[in-house]
Amino acid sequence: MSTLRFKAVQLAQNRKPVEVVEDKRRSEIFGANVFNEYSMRQYLTSDAFKGVMNAIQHGKKIDRKIANQVASSMKDWALSKGVTHYTHWFQPLTGATAEKHDAFFETIGNGMAIEKFGGSQLVQQEPDASSFPNGGIRNTFEARGYTAWDPTSPAFIYGTTLCIPTIFISYTGEALDYKTPLLRALNAVDTAATAVCKYFDKNVKKVTSSLGWEQEYFLVDKALAGSRPDITLTGRTLLGHSPAKGQQLDDHYFGSIPSRALNYIRDLETECMYLGIPVKTRHNEVAPNQFELAPIYEEANLAVDHNSLLMDIMGRVANRHDFKVLLHEKPFAGVNGSGKHNNWSLSNDAGVNLLSPGQTPMSNLQFLTFFINTIKAVYNNEELLRASIASASNDHRLGANEAPPAIMSIFIGQQLTKVLEELEGVTNGKLSPEEKTDLKLNVIGKIPDVLLDNTDRNRTSPFAFTGNKFEFRAVGSLANSANPMTVLNTIVAKQLKNFKIEVDKLIEEKGLKKDEAIFNVLREYIKSLKNILFEGNGYGAAWEKEAKKRGLSNNKTTPEALKVKISKKTIDLFEEMNVMSKVEIEARYEIEIEDYTLRIQIESRVIGDIAGNHIIPTAVRYQNMLIKNVSGLKEIFGKDFEKYASEQILLIQKISSHIEVIHAKVDAMIAERKKANAINDPVKKAYEYCNTIKPFFEEIRYHCDKLELMVDDEIWPLTKYRELMFIR
Ligand code: ADP
Ligand code: MG
Repeated sequence: MSTLRFKAVQLAQNRKPVEVVEDKRRSEIFGANVFNEYSMRQYLTSDAFKGVMNAIQHGKKIDRKIANQVASSMKDWALSKGVTHYTHWFQPLTGATAEKHDAFFETIGNGMAIEKFGGSQLVQQEPDASSFPNGGIRNTFEARGYTAWDPTSPAFIYGTTLCIPTIFISYTGEALDYKTPLLRALNAVDTAATAVCKYFDKNVKKVTSSLGWEQEYFLVDKALAGSRPDITLTGRTLLGHSPAKGQQLDDHYFGSIPSRALNYIRDLETECMYLGIPVKTRHNEVAPNQFELAPIYEEANLAVDHNSLLMDIMGRVANRHDFKVLLHEKPFAGVNGSGKHNNWSLSNDAGVNLLSPGQTPMSNLQFLTFFINTIKAVYNNEELLRASIASASNDHRLGANEAPPAIMSIFIGQQLTKVLEELEGVTNGKLSPEEKTDLKLNVIGKIPDVLLDNTDRNRTSPFAFTGNKFEFRAVGSLANSANPMTVLNTIVAKQLKNFKIEVDKLIEEKGLKKDEAIFNVLREYIKSLKNILFEGNGYGAAWEKEAKKRGLSNNKTTPEALKVKISKKTIDLFEEMNVMSKVEIEARYEIEIEDYTLRIQIESRVIGDIAGNHIIPTAVRYQNMLIKNVSGLKEIFGKDFEKYASEQILLIQKISSHIEVIHAKVDAMIAERKKANAINDPVKKAYEYCNTIKPFFEEIRYHCDKLELMVDDEIWPLTKYRELMFIR
């Protein structure tokens, strides 16, 4: 009997929901562990408060004196909540979050000690950064990287540690993290969008980018997950035959949340409340044991921090509930994978959502301006947007007939399609008063302010307009949203900048009125961007053909998708918008390429190991049982035995042939791996892993999964899909 598997199953089956106490209202505990405006007002002097608010709202620098005051008050606040340590909290390019804890505690001689935290410790730290990926920017022997306080994301307490969100840069000033380029992109979109907003409202001073993510994930019992080497080491199953019942009946999606999972979610949400993460929605997802969690949207930088923090907390809380959270995009073959829809919009400092149709023709013209410019930005940069969500794990999802395809397209719905058609007919040059009136009354005046109902229904679109926001659905569940958000905000910034130049030119050179100029530019955009608009079924093979005709990219694998990241066009774009320098771009590309190779390499080793050390020995054991049976039958029945042993003999033969193929494939894969490892060029190596080594996985898996169906369940060593997905 396969002891580990059956012990795990028994443990999992006997679990009871872990009690969770929710004795306070959520509004009461919300943000209790965050050094937010409320606690700052209590703890900071008015000078310090003003300094921080100025930094948050207007990007002003905080001087040393103010920093000292803030640090000291932050410390007092944290100590009042039982905190002992502080850390600079940042998001290196590993995809996880990083922290190094220091105690507030300091000795001051004569056997005395105090708690101390000064401005300099708040503002800057120098973690030993040599072990974080840097794409060759920093020489490892010069292990100096700096973390620097980001006052726009408030400090928070996790456990007994005060966490200070920071950026992470090299000694020479290059970004080594996700946050730095994101902040620069948000700044770029603020500048460009504010300038465009002024056409409609002279008083606008700031435009903010918002993000509302929807996090999908799987919950698997800790013991069951731990019994599978593939889940433990790669976050997904590399083998496993589909169970008889998967998600066909939709019973999980529409059913109530199972009670162990519900208690986990409640506990998680409580943690989120204390940390000021405004989670609001929870529900079952399509696959068995798959769930989703979504917050109220926030300013994009904060939302990204909150999502990174959430992914960390999810794992820790899961431990208390004897679960393992799988954030991988495709933990199980044959059922849906997980994504992280990124809902994105822009709003100005008067609180107007620029992607929401308004009440008046003028506000609708503003809406159309931002709506059409976003579409144009995505069209001009579709390949880069695709690259922003590329990863080894997301490759399993994109284009795999369940998730958005690897082709970027935009769904806008019938009503807006019609509006664009009508705008396309606008006269070239000056408009007659009648035409203007007609446009205002009958075209843009008729956009209903609630579009929500008819727009969300195309689930196959990777980028859909959903009434008052765009929903970037192709983002992977494991991703740091900073990456797609950096790209999206940068391309929109660049597009808005171009738009402003074109409109101003028509006003100055052709003497057009402002609204005429806007109509004229938008008309030309509409004519040019049709190829990116697609309302049909994004999963269909017909779309692949059609998209090819339209000249849209279809990069199905990460190495292919990443290529565009170092194209001249991309480098020019990021440099022009001050988001990343050439050095930073190339370093990031190298890191992502290497990350890809490493992940496939690990999977390849694990699959080789499981096939060789778990599957084949088990198959041989079972075969021996059959052989014993056959020779027993021969003893009893003599030459007649074949009549009784034919099925067994057939099985023995089948097992042998599967074993033979598995052996051969694993050996061949290892040989290819050796060759690939000898390649020095990291890009060539990644392609080799992608095109030569990865294809072995499916072949090896096929034969192992066949054996799973033949071998006696009692001795099968790997916890089966039905156990992983249905024990809850
Ligand atoms: P669903 O997509 O499941 O129908 P919703 O559209 O209601 O759900 O919301 C999904 C996410 O979109 C939530 O996180 C929500 O906060 C976010 N969201 C709603 N409005 C906006 C907006 N204007 N900008 C950015 N995100 C938004
Ligand atoms: Mg959604």
